[in-house]
Amino acid sequence: MKKVFLFFILLFYISSSFGLLPILTPLEVAPPTVILISMDGFRSDYWDRAKTPHFHELIKRGTIADHLKPVFPSVTFTNHYSLVTGLFAENHGIVNNSMWDPVSRKNFEIQDADAVDEGVWWEGEPVWVTAERQGKRTASMFWVGSSAEIKGIRPTYWMPYDQAFPKQKRIEKVLEWLDLPSEKRPQFITLYFEDTDLAGHRYGPDSEEVTQAIKALDDSLGQLVAGLKIRGLEKSTTLILVSDHGMASVKRSDRLLLNDYVTTTEAKVVGKGALVFVWPVSKQAELAILKKVKNKTGPFQLLLKEKMPERFHFSKHRRISPLVFLANEGWYWETGLLPSIKPTVFGMHGYDNISPRMQAIFLAVGPDFAENKKVGEVENIDIYSLLAHLLKLRPANTDGNYQRIEKVLHSKE
Ligand code: AMP
Ligand code: ZN
Ligand code: ZN
Repeated sequence: MKKVFLFFILLFYISSSFGLLPILTPLEVAPPTVILISMDGFRSDYWDRAKTPHFHELIKRGTIADHLKPVFPSVTFTNHYSLVTGLFAENHGIVNNSMWDPVSRKNFEIQDADAVDEGVWWEGEPVWVTAERQGKRTASMFWVGSSAEIKGIRPTYWMPYDQAFPKQKRIEKVLEWLDLPSEKRPQFITLYFEDTDLAGHRYGPDSEEVTQAIKALDDSLGQLVAGLKIRGLEKSTTLILVSDHGMASVKRSDRLLLNDYVTTTEAKVVGKGALVFVWPVSKQAELAILKKVKNKTGPFQLLLKEKMPERFHFSKHRRISPLVFLANEGWYWETGLLPSIKPTVFGMHGYDNISPRMQAIFLAVGPDFAENKKVGEVENIDIYSLLAHLLKLRPANTDGNYQRIEKVLHSKE
């Protein structure tokens, strides 16, 4: 008898170490977990681009929105941080991927890990901070902002961002966290993939490479769902699949050079791509720039901070420059003295957030969501309120509206 008992203990131990069984004592029930997954640059019409059985299984099992409306500007850092704070750019401070702060006089670039990890850039309260403060553990398999201490708090588990970290390993990490004993197991987990954004920029949204990236993400989702199934967590776990923005094709022939309108002696120029911040060195320099724009129009808009369209919610923050050069969709700013020899960008985002090409995705599966349900638009800034509801948290103040997103829930048929 003793031998049989030892045999089972050994079997349990071996299965657990190989990730075949969750390390749960028989009476322990896993608390409900929410996994927020972002597929960067996954446009709202990408669902049917390839044979994607796992996406379609989830669509059948859950609730899908026609699209998720990004905030302005439709770039990665701004939108990922809006998703987890429920705030517009002007209220959370990540007003673009590249910024300059006129008070600290510091620069922020997404490739600069020291800047990205500096808590002072990140205002508002990401949902993992709300959760940790209210006694719930959180984990981040990458998310914009998760490697910085915000209000003195990071997720319990997090990893420094590494674009080369394989998708399979990211999923294994999430499953590992779910295998932790209940007092250590996170109830909220983020998971991030950049594939569709990278392929979209390099080859354009209509390319075969984007289709391949969509397929690869479908495989990864299949791997995650299989891991949940083995652990008996498939039904109790909520998956919320979102993206930050869409992608537009860019013109390959004509170029848009900022240098035609702004010289480095006239202003500090911050960023490139769809949106460029211009900080004139003096009133005189600002007038000179305005005159050039008046005399030579082009496929762009010069947005004045003082007269920003209200719907952008993009005027309050000190990191928004007095002049914002916004390329028309299909164009992007080059900021060198001359055009680059060979264009390497065939897809771009960052444009007006109501453009159909900039729309992102929302799909939710889990105990709170109806099967096979379709809703219209969901707004980026309402996701925080939804997460707070699912995690039973007292939410921080946001720009979002819980009543507006309630329609995605099962109980609100
Ligand atoms: P963009 O297309 O310029 O808006 O930015 C997309 C890029 O952001 C991706 O290629 C990622 O490599 C990068 N990125 C995403 N998440 C992070 C992060 N947490 N830290 C640093 N870079 C990130
Ligand atoms: Zn992005
Ligand atoms: Zn991008």
